[in-house]
Amino acid sequence: MDALAPVYSVNAQCRDCYKCVRRCPVKAIRVENDHAVVVPEACIYCGTCVATCPNKAKMVRDDLQAVRNLVSARRDVVLSLAPSFASEFPGVDPACLSTALKKLGFAVVRETAVGANIVSRRVAELMAKSPNHRLQISSACPVVVELIQRYYPRFAPYLTPVDSPIIAHCKALRREFPDAPIVFAGPCVGKKHESDQHQELLYGALTFEELRRWMMMAGVPCRWTPHEGLRTNQ
Ligand code: SF4
Ligand code: SF4
Repeated sequence: MDALAPVYSVNAQCRDCYKCVRRCPVKAIRVENDHAVVVPEACIYCGTCVATCPNKAKMVRDDLQAVRNLVSARRDVVLSLAPSFASEFPGVDPACLSTALKKLGFAVVRETAVGANIVSRRVAELMAKSPNHRLQISSACPVVVELIQRYYPRFAPYLTPVDSPIIAHCKALRREFPDAPIVFAGPCVGKKHESDQHQELLYGALTFEELRRWMMMAGVPCRWTPHEGLRTNQ
């Protein structure tokens, strides 16, 4: 969707402290022309460098404008919402949140947890059929899967051959809405990478920070108070 990788460097902001180099768990940041730059081929999109950099020189790609353009152009966009909406919007009635998100222009709002259920069932089936309880590694986190595939390839054969929850959910949604573009919203930077890898299924992935910014810009309620219900942060 965007030429930038999900995590990228802004060299002009870099003050060469190399904190990010020290904190990257897979040494995916190298020093080029005195600046610390992310090497996309080595990055597992964990977001550690973004949280570490004191100068906003490591950034998460902002996909908000692209998704807003999509929603402006299409009336059938489906949103897959991460189950962690419950902690991002504590106390909010899910139906109330769904209504608020539809005010942004989404036609349908569904929970990614449906995909997680599909994956759990499939993993349970595989484990039941597994001879001698063969080791199986299963994780909903794309960063963990990426870490194993790139850096611990000897364990890659033990990864369960099932889709991630978001991809399983997209496939289920695709059967129900064959032509509708699908967007994800959740806390995870790694989902942007999954979106890049599966553009045919997942048009884009927003972080909750992007979603909240959109809700505030649109004046759509995004904060819950016990007495007033949903309201904006303004
Ligand atoms: S932590 Fe930030 S300022 Fe320091 S080297 Fe990394 S990108 Fe540059
Ligand atoms: S996102 Fe994670 S893996 Fe990628 S460069 Fe930053 S710290 Fe390293």
